[in-house]
Amino acid sequence: MTEKNLKAALRNLSESAFDFLERSIEEIKDRPKYSVIHFATAVELLLKARLMREHWTLVVERASDVTLDNFLSGQCKTVTQGDAIKRLNGACNENISKDAVAQFAKIAAHRNQMIHFFHEAGTTKAGQAMIEGIVKEQCLSWYYLERLLSDWGDQFEEFDTKIATVRWRMKQNRAFLSVAFDRLKPKIEADSKAGTAFQDCSGCGYEAAAVTELSDVLFEKHCRVCGLVEAYIEIPCPDECGEVLHIEPDFGSHTCEECGHIVTSEELADVLDTEYSDPTDFETPMNCAMCSGYHSVVQHHDTFICTECLATSDSAPLCEWCNERQIGGGDMEFSYHSGCEFCEGQAGWTKDD
Ligand SMILES: [Zn+2]
Ligand SMILES: [Zn+2]
Ligand SMILES: [Zn+2]
Ligand SMILES: [Zn+2]
Repeated sequence: MTEKNLKAALRNLSESAFDFLERSIEEIKDRPKYSVIHFATAVELLLKARLMREHWTLVVERASDVTLDNFLSGQCKTVTQGDAIKRLNGACNENISKDAVAQFAKIAAHRNQMIHFFHEAGTTKAGQAMIEGIVKEQCLSWYYLERLLSDWGDQFEEFDTKIATVRWRMKQNRAFLSVAFDRLKPKIEADSKAGTAFQDCSGCGYEAAAVTELSDVLFEKHCRVCGLVEAYIEIPCPDECGEVLHIEPDFGSHTCEECGHIVTSEELADVLDTEYSDPTDFETPMNCAMCSGYHSVVQHHDTFICTECLATSDSAPLCEWCNERQIGGGDMEFSYHSGCEFCEGQAGWTKDD
């Protein structure tokens, strides 16, 4: 019985999340304030639904004080969005990137601001500027959310049609950014003539993402409409079929469309590792806290890059306990005591068990 109730509660929570999301996207023009509030709520609920799938106690702020009955009747305090993300990354082995975390925190803050301090825009022009700002924010948030939902495909399977609807409507809403794009167009055209390459942005869809060549294989594009920054790699197919592969982060395995070759992380390391070292030299291994990639990081000129998830960082601090380096796990300030993603530090070593 309880098992069944839990299932129903999880379903309700997920349904509610998608309901808020759909509403938010419809409200953008006529009720921008509610669009912001509902979008932020949807993100929070989706994160909680993912946590609840792992275990219901993870959704509760202090699980020791709460029974399942309390929980099912809604009589308990649930975790904040920030803590929900910490628990997903910690207890559930997820890797929600720091860019996604920052973007979700931004919309949560915007929701609070809307609830407490919202003023109607005084003029049509101000109204349009506000809608434009909100659509940009939702394009960026959806960019990260869509990737999480695709990672969690098996968990939200029954909502596939809803996700497809949201995806389609989000694309429709990009039209609100056409004014911004038109405004930027003369500058984009001039820069394009002067040699800057532009590509379609994965956030807003406009051909407004200016490409910066970080090296002969590593590129970054920065969208002038919505502000999304994406890194990507371009390498010739390792199977020498002649195709040039365009590889973006976070998309699982990388397959050559021409010959079907699946690019391995060893092949990526061969291309990306620019620090020549004698095989007899000892090299400090580097790990990735973003995807828990063990010894998966190589140095590419001034950038450290994970050959599993392609996360990049300009530094790879050393864990003072295990003496390995890592990216994506903060500055390692207290690592001697508390360790890193891959060791438990002195505290783990000395604790009784
Ligand atoms: Zn964009
Ligand atoms: Zn190929
Ligand atoms: Zn990684
Ligand atoms: Zn360590």
